[in-house]
Amino acid sequence: MSAPAITAKENATLLIVYNEKDARDRLRKIFEAAGFRALTVSDAPSALRVIHKESCDLIVLDLEIPGVDALALCRLLRAQPATKTLPVIALSDSTVESRKADAFAAGADDFITKPSNADELVSRVTSQLRSAQREWDLIGSNRELRFLADLGRGLLRAIEPDQLVRRVAGSTYEGTGAVLCAAFVDLSPDCETGCVFDREGSAEDTSLMHLDRLQGWLASPGAAAPVLLTAASSFFLREDAHQVEYAVPLRFGGRAKGALVVAFDRREDLGETECRLVDAAAQQAALAAHISSLYQAARESSTTLAKEVDRRTAEAEAQRRFTEAIIDSLPLSLYAVDSDYRIVAWNRNRELGELGIPRGSVLGKNIFSVLTLQNRQVLSEEFARVFESGEIERIEHEATRASGEIKHWLISKIPMWIDDSGRVSHVIAVGEDISTRVEANRAVARAEKLAAIGRLAAGVVHEINNPLATISACAEALESRLQEGAFSQIESSETLDDLREYLGLIRSEAFRCKSITNGLLDFSRARASEHARLDLADVINAAARLLAHQQRDAKVEFLFQTPDNPLPPLSGDAGQLQQAIIALATNAVDAMPVGGTLTISARHEGAEVLVEVSDTGVGIAPENIAKIFEPFFTTKEVGRGTGLGLAVCYGILTEHGGSLDVQSTLGVGTTFTITLPAITEIGESKA
Ligand code: ADP
Ligand code: MG
Repeated sequence: MSAPAITAKENATLLIVYNEKDARDRLRKIFEAAGFRALTVSDAPSALRVIHKESCDLIVLDLEIPGVDALALCRLLRAQPATKTLPVIALSDSTVESRKADAFAAGADDFITKPSNADELVSRVTSQLRSAQREWDLIGSNRELRFLADLGRGLLRAIEPDQLVRRVAGSTYEGTGAVLCAAFVDLSPDCETGCVFDREGSAEDTSLMHLDRLQGWLASPGAAAPVLLTAASSFFLREDAHQVEYAVPLRFGGRAKGALVVAFDRREDLGETECRLVDAAAQQAALAAHISSLYQAARESSTTLAKEVDRRTAEAEAQRRFTEAIIDSLPLSLYAVDSDYRIVAWNRNRELGELGIPRGSVLGKNIFSVLTLQNRQVLSEEFARVFESGEIERIEHEATRASGEIKHWLISKIPMWIDDSGRVSHVIAVGEDISTRVEANRAVARAEKLAAIGRLAAGVVHEINNPLATISACAEALESRLQEGAFSQIESSETLDDLREYLGLIRSEAFRCKSITNGLLDFSRARASEHARLDLADVINAAARLLAHQQRDAKVEFLFQTPDNPLPPLSGDAGQLQQAIIALATNAVDAMPVGGTLTISARHEGAEVLVEVSDTGVGIAPENIAKIFEPFFTTKEVGRGTGLGLAVCYGILTEHGGSLDVQSTLGVGTTFTITLPAITEIGESKA
């Protein structure tokens, strides 16, 4: 239903319901003269017929019509939706107030008492039409407002193109009373979406439309404004009876992103209001389509972004693992702290060993709460110095393991910078086991010292041996002369006895000096050693026999253990090796003044033959361990120890390409281990 066209007053159609013919004609003339179109009927039934056929804008109703009561007709008009707002002006002869009240109660909009003059009639009619027009306008704006509000709300939830076209087409179809309504958006080349509403419902199917025509129109300059189309040039494929189409582009930012098209059966159904509604709906839809396209783009880029983030995360993770693998593969203990002393790195080696701690339980913790065994003051001063100075700090550190083994560590604290601020951001602590290097250095120093002493000893011994030989030879000669009575002129037998005694003393002391110089000679390696292929088991057995003979003290038990399988042969000087074993055994016996067990055993490990000389004696104080191989180091009383035994052993074994190691626990006992290279398959000694 459309609003009455009142703006042009002459277009308004009035229906005059009047019984009396003359009066009826008179009224018609008055209204026609005033420019209205006037229809006339004489009774209520004819009035109803005309109202149904023609569109009337106002009824002038004589209350004195016959048949159906005029008031009943009035009530009937008010009861029907189509005529509910149709203005009715009642005419009556009666001046009775109650009659007037009845007319208003039945729904009349105005009341005129007959006889009425022409001017009053025309002005009353005009006034009623004006207020009817105002009411229509109001209803129309309300409808528009409600429609737009509903559509706006709906579009808020329609972010996908298919939801969008569905809501726009559906709302416009409902709101305008069109017979067909289609919404179409084309947001990107492969994303065209459409929806068509008709009497049978909706179809998300653009096959009901001349899509190519629509797209052609949208691409043309003509699509800047709405168009009105007749059936022949329509966008809808259906030709069933609709007379007119109205198409509005969905324009945003100067571009047509789609279209909204409505169709009406009759041209007059497409009024100004309908056009306004469709225009407004198209505007909202254009904005929604723009938002939808932004949303699509954002979603696409966020998917790309998410993929990129995943890729970069994987890359960073691989890089992290690689770096971690590098620091884990280093043969070093390594950790790093930040300037708050929080642990940020902790490598595999730091997890291993007696003092190892799993990485997971230290990362992020304060270093001082983790390294509780270290002196906190010293440690924090070291770190502070490196953070302050930015210079590497190196400290050598000696640690005794639970097993008694001494380990040497080189601890470096290395500054690290992660930006250009010049501030040390982290300190890396690296611990390197330098025991082997330290031992090797010490061995070299010891060997050099021994060689120097050896050269000195050889020179001295050479000078002393000859006079000693002369002294002992002279003493012996004098003794035999004494024996032969060459000194018979000496009368006093006491004097002779003294002489004999002194000569004996000179001889024995000269021999004692000789044995010391021989020891020095041994030490100096002045005597050439003769290497030959030998079985170490034979050497041990020979040494055992000698030791058994010399056994001074029954309190010490001897155990000799050679393996059942033959030991691999080695190349060496049997005499010297036997001397080394005897020197170790002698020390062992000395270390067991109140008795104990001396065990000498041999075995082989790979290409090496090992001899262990163990005792259950007093043991060696840790501070002496490093000194016992030095020549002249002894803890024994003067006259008992020369301090040369271990130095000689060490020299002999080094010369054989072997080594001598010691393990000792105070009060428990000591084990010396000789390691010598066996002759390998190729036939040569490994050394
Ligand atoms: P000496 O036996 O003349 O003292 P060595 O060179 O043979 O000289 O030994 C040096 C020192 O090493 C000894 O004085 C002793 O303190 C220590 N020592 C060597 N072997 C043992 C042992 N088996 N048990 C305890 N101490 C030992
Ligand atoms: Mg000794």
